[in-house]
Amino acid sequence: MERMQELVDRLNRYAYQYYVLDDPSVTDGEYDAAFDELIELERKTGTVLPNSPTTRVGGQPLARFEPYPHRARLWSLDKVKTQEDFLEWDARIRRLLPDGADVAYALQHKFDGLTINLTYEDGRLVQAATRGNGLVGEGILSQVRTIKSVPLSVEYKGIFEVQGEGFMPISAFERYNQEAQEPLKNPRNGAAGALRNLDPKETARRNLDAFFYNVGYIEDKSFQSQEEMEAFLRENHFKTPPDLGVYHDPKALFQAAMEVGERRHQLDFLIDGVVAKVVDYAQREALGHTDRFPRWAMAIKFEAEEATTQVIGVSWDVGRTGKLTPLAHLTPVDIGGITVSHATLNNPGDIQRKGVKLGSTVWVRRSNDVIPEIMGTVDDGGEPILTPETCPFCGSPVEERGANVFCTNTDSCRQQKLYELSHFASKHGVDIEGLSEKTIALLMDYLGVTAPYELYRVTREELLGLPGFKDKKADNLLAALEASKHPELGAFLSALGIPNVGRKTARDLADHYGSLTALMAASEEELLAIRDVGEVVARSIAGYFADEGKRENLQKLLDQGIAPVYDKKETGLLSGRNVVFTGSLSRYTRSEIQALAEGHGANVQSTVGKGTDLLVAGERAGSKLRKAQELGIEVLTEDEFLSMLGDETAL
Ligand SMILES: [Zn+2]
Repeated sequence: MERMQELVDRLNRYAYQYYVLDDPSVTDGEYDAAFDELIELERKTGTVLPNSPTTRVGGQPLARFEPYPHRARLWSLDKVKTQEDFLEWDARIRRLLPDGADVAYALQHKFDGLTINLTYEDGRLVQAATRGNGLVGEGILSQVRTIKSVPLSVEYKGIFEVQGEGFMPISAFERYNQEAQEPLKNPRNGAAGALRNLDPKETARRNLDAFFYNVGYIEDKSFQSQEEMEAFLRENHFKTPPDLGVYHDPKALFQAAMEVGERRHQLDFLIDGVVAKVVDYAQREALGHTDRFPRWAMAIKFEAEEATTQVIGVSWDVGRTGKLTPLAHLTPVDIGGITVSHATLNNPGDIQRKGVKLGSTVWVRRSNDVIPEIMGTVDDGGEPILTPETCPFCGSPVEERGANVFCTNTDSCRQQKLYELSHFASKHGVDIEGLSEKTIALLMDYLGVTAPYELYRVTREELLGLPGFKDKKADNLLAALEASKHPELGAFLSALGIPNVGRKTARDLADHYGSLTALMAASEEELLAIRDVGEVVARSIAGYFADEGKRENLQKLLDQGIAPVYDKKETGLLSGRNVVFTGSLSRYTRSEIQALAEGHGANVQSTVGKGTDLLVAGERAGSKLRKAQELGIEVLTEDEFLSMLGDETAL
């Protein structure tokens, strides 16, 4: 029994370190070994301790949900959308409080999941319930136990209730849908459906997570402020929401809220707004509640980003690698103030899995930076969507590879060439300013350009013969071509479009080899020795430079005077790289280390996104670290980062 208690405590500590602090202290193997030993002991003794992690895996299905009366009511939130309305609310708050009161608001995400209320008694999780009507919810303890960041036992021994939000991380949603027979429509439905599923095993499969933001009821204790309450939550190992700051100026708060809205697609969870809460508990008490809302909190809602509409047609595009991508044409629908009439369906496998047909009513999700995506179907519709058997641009037969189909005509498919040239000329390639897809199409159709080197052979006379080209336009393009002749080596390698070599790998290759010649001479084995280069990538690179046609085209490009440059010192170690810092640092303050990074040419960002190149993670790094790992972004500790820069303090 003692051994069992010890294992339970240890495993719960590991889970806390892993799921809440994001800072594991043991390997998966060590965790599994302890877990297996515990299962064996539980089997032998026929006893399961109440806070045993084995209770997380999902128990017996329930016949029904039992009603649970909350000890403290769960309030709804009043909401506004405009700054004007928000300032009006702030003015009302100030009127209700004594003259000159110092009012501060804490800003938090408004999560788009399912509100849950946990009850702890004698240091143990004894109940979890949905919000219900705010007074009475439904007991979902077995379901909530499957959320690994929820503490099964806590330090504090008195009875208390903690309110929070259960959600399905977007990364978990995407992983789930890759394998699921019946894909989920969106992470919100994924979370709500999982927590209200009578079978906890299904809940466990969804890999939910939760943030906790309020103690609604507590025995023998009171809090003076939001900060104090949150500190209590952290001391008891709850996962608290990311800190969005405290504001005294309502305009600054609203501005910050809008910025959160703009960046929300970089988060690994859905939010539909933010919440401003009066920090001081005495002020909260003075403000009180209406019959539905607390007067001391206000939600600022963002524009919706989902809608349902009908698929009226599908067209296919062919990318630079020959991959065919279906684009759904939709009955135009307004999503958050923007008319959406097209959405991507990714690939034929995706169409199949989501069951999309012509005439289907579908869920469409829009995010700022990418083309809207069809998340799932609401009803079936009629005709199936057929995958083309030949390339819609060159008529060559297509080939199936996994969920995708490819145009097999890699040598002369016009559409592939168009995107290849466009990729070469793009900002992240050799950056030929002003060379649009439309112009590339003209160069292809009128001048027979098909390879990058041929761009540099185009003459002024030839350009002047193109529709829409006058002196100025021709001169500008020629100047832009000339200016693109000395690209950074990394950008040049990326521009070549070597299969499986993205911007980051291209830069790593440049840093490692320093010259094109050195890279071209590298064997597959040598390439494998580079950090983050795996077998597939190494084979791709070696294969590319071994291909005679590719080598020939490359040589012709160099003959046109293209000379990639690589100069580590002059450009700065972090030149052009987007760097994010997270967690608490020990050797420098945040602003000092940011200045240091900028001194080496880095562009310091505040949030992790697809464009981030490097994350420096200090102690207690949380969601940014997870996000970076999910996106495959390079992560360094503070010391690794400093020693990379040759900083003495790290030695
Ligand atoms: Zn084709």
